[in-house]
Amino acid sequence: ARTLPRPVLTLRGRDDARTLRAALLPGRHVLVIGAGFLGGEIAAAARDRGCRVTLVEAAGQPLLRVVGAVAGAFVAGLHREAGVDLRTGTTVTDLRAEPDAGAGYRVTLSDGTTRAVDTVVAALGAVPATDWLTDSGLDVTGAGGVRCDPFLRVLRPDGTVVPGVTAAGDVARAPHPLADGVPVLIGHWTNAIEQAAVAAHTLLHPRDPRPYDAVPSFWADLYGVRLRSVGLPAGAE
Ligand SMILES: Cc1cc2nc3c(=O)[nH]c(=O)nc-3n(C[C@H](O)[C@H](O)[C@H](O)COP(=O)(O)OP(=O)(O)OC[C@H]3O[C@@H](n4cnc5c(N)ncnc54)[C@H](O)[C@@H]3O)c2cc1C
Repeated sequence: ARTLPRPVLTLRGRDDARTLRAALLPGRHVLVIGAGFLGGEIAAAARDRGCRVTLVEAAGQPLLRVVGAVAGAFVAGLHREAGVDLRTGTTVTDLRAEPDAGAGYRVTLSDGTTRAVDTVVAALGAVPATDWLTDSGLDVTGAGGVRCDPFLRVLRPDGTVVPGVTAAGDVARAPHPLADGVPVLIGHWTNAIEQAAVAAHTLLHPRDPRPYDAVPSFWADLYGVRLRSVGLPAGAE
């Protein structure tokens, strides 16, 4: 098998952003895998910079899991109006070096189509890195992250509190009133900031903790349109 001409790009930090920006040159064909927030914003940035964009999404709509079908269809319309070749219900089945264009890729999609692209960006979501906690006695089983109580105290698998340990941010799977008390992971920076304050309060005032109940919110910018979400919209439709 041929090795890929260069690695599939991801976007996590500043160096990734610099690498991606350098790759988004006018006329380049960019394949973005995953039409979540990150993939959607990367597709929009690539179109703004004059790239051709193919955006592949396994679900039936962009952002389906996060904002539901109605808002997802609206976002799909934004991408298509901007000239993005959005392929929903589609995955990448093969990716290899393009024999005719030294630096590019030949990609095959699950709908049977193939195309040559210059740059591939994977935006497939984040998974909390909790492997190193597997034997720690903390509950890192189940739906990912570290399970907490409403005060962000970390729990053992039997549901008892681990004294003096709290979690906050993307890694904290905590009950939320808007989820009927079901522990949820919330991957937004406002949540990380608000949970950090609650977790610190819990550590400083163990006899008088307060629950985490801030209303989650985030925004995303696509083609000059700002999408704002307040609450936990998943499953709201
Ligand atoms: C490209 C990008 C764009 C985003 N845009 C938005 C946005 O527009 N709006 C929004 O609300 N959210 C956005 N997010 C999500 C937001 O960045 C996260 O929700 C937020 O950073 C979570 O903060 P955190 O402190 O929980 O985790 P992080 O910011 O991921 O920080 C965790 C830190 O812990 C370190 N770490 C990991 N494992 C260990 C270990 N074992 N020991 C010590 N340190 C460790 C990591 O290196 C990292 O520095 C974006 C994320 C990305 C990647």
